[in-house]
Amino acid sequence: MSDTADHPCLECGACCCSYRVDFSVYELDDAGGTVPAALAVPVNGAKVRMCGTDRIPLRCVALVGTVGQRAHCGIYAQRPQPCRELEPGSYGCDKARLRHGLPPLEPTETWQRRMA
Ligand code: SF4
Ligand code: SF4
Repeated sequence: MSDTADHPCLECGACCCSYRVDFSVYELDDAGGTVPAALAVPVNGAKVRMCGTDRIPLRCVALVGTVGQRAHCGIYAQRPQPCRELEPGSYGCDKARLRHGLPPLEPTETWQRRMA
């Protein structure tokens, strides 16, 4: 998920309610990274998972707002790598949006320019 003014993610949040978000323990703030450790649970010695992405209905605890209306990542600057890698308009984005009854993104000049 991206999170910039006028960005389509700010009216979406579907990926944050679709996928398990696993990442390295070294991304946690108590291990020198950025992600608040209180928002993750252990998977094994090397990996942790964003709370809320390991249950049904799935919803990351850091997501603020309502999917498909107004939504944003509450820890945007501190979010883990998988969230940084999922790009609007990608296959994973389209799949998450469809899962929540939202159409695939129609790329617009405005947000493509913002992403560049
Ligand atoms: S599903 Fe796509 S548009 Fe929606 S928040 Fe995630 S990356 Fe953004
Ligand atoms: S950390 Fe932020 S971007 Fe990642 S799944 Fe949670 S709310 Fe979405």
